[in-house]
Amino acid sequence: MTTVVTLHQGADPQAVRAALQALGQWAQPLSDGDGGRAAFALAAHSQPVAPARLYAVTGVAEVLAGSSGHPLLDTWRGRAVPVTERLAVGPGAAPVLLAGPCGAESAAQVHAAAAAVAAAGGAMLRGGAYKPRTSPYAFAGVGRQALTWLRQAADRHGLGLVTECLSEADVDAVADVADLVQIGSRNMQNFALLRAVGATGRPVLLKRGAASTLSEWRLAAEHALAAGAKGVVFCERGIRGLDPETRNTLDLGAVALLALVDELAVVVDPSHAAGRRDLVAPLSRAALAAGAHGLLVETHPDPASARSDGAQALSPAALATLLPEPRP
Ligand code: PEP
Ligand code: MN
Repeated sequence: MTTVVTLHQGADPQAVRAALQALGQWAQPLSDGDGGRAAFALAAHSQPVAPARLYAVTGVAEVLAGSSGHPLLDTWRGRAVPVTERLAVGPGAAPVLLAGPCGAESAAQVHAAAAAVAAAGGAMLRGGAYKPRTSPYAFAGVGRQALTWLRQAADRHGLGLVTECLSEADVDAVADVADLVQIGSRNMQNFALLRAVGATGRPVLLKRGAASTLSEWRLAAEHALAAGAKGVVFCERGIRGLDPETRNTLDLGAVALLALVDELAVVVDPSHAAGRRDLVAPLSRAALAAGAHGLLVETHPDPASARSDGAQALSPAALATLLPEPRP
């Protein structure tokens, strides 16, 4: 639990912070104004103090005791995350399809995939220039050159672009081309990366760690928001279960909780959950029924030749029948 202190418009944040510190409060800035009012989160290990003493500090307008540990995330409840000028993902927005190849392999492959995504009613191209691979000998992506292919293919087909940032070293290059920056499952709690990506101001697609609780997931989102991310779209991609036949267990309870109770933006990735293409369509239907605001699906113009995740890639024809009619 956190206490949130909001200041009057025009109050001096430094003076207020000093006064709060004098009361034994560990005050962390929550926003730097940004057109709104400055605010501080008081860390849980601050000294216990009666709210009246906080209100007595000159410049303090409001004290919200017992707020969740993610006050910035809470401001996104019930709101869709704007991703491009024309597209938002989340509560109140039509379900979206984000699709593309696991890895961008060549300009031709990326363009063919983008054409298939557009034909299937997709809103965003999703493909990786940088791939996190369990084996160091597996295809790890083409790198920077692929970012250009992805952006050009998305533009040519009127799609937005979501692509993964794997390392702090690539944050600027990825944020330059991506409308939505993906943080992969393995990096969900890489707080330095979350902060560096957040600082670009891009919205973030935050995949769930394979063994992460919902609370850890929400707090990871708070890290990105605290650094400046303009919204977080959660992506459930399956958690470590007991049976490898369906690879990761798609946690639809988590989807319903985040989407319908927390009212946060959530998409589901049935491809990495199941690891096999024959389960992608049924899991997609289940995800939408559970409240998901979109689907993140892998497709490849020629799945048999895919350099990564071919077994779960849908053909363009299968992708075309994935979204329920009528399409957005
Ligand atoms: C991916 O989206 O390409 C990927 C590697 O997924 P995850 O991070 O969920 O394993
Ligand atoms: Mn993949």
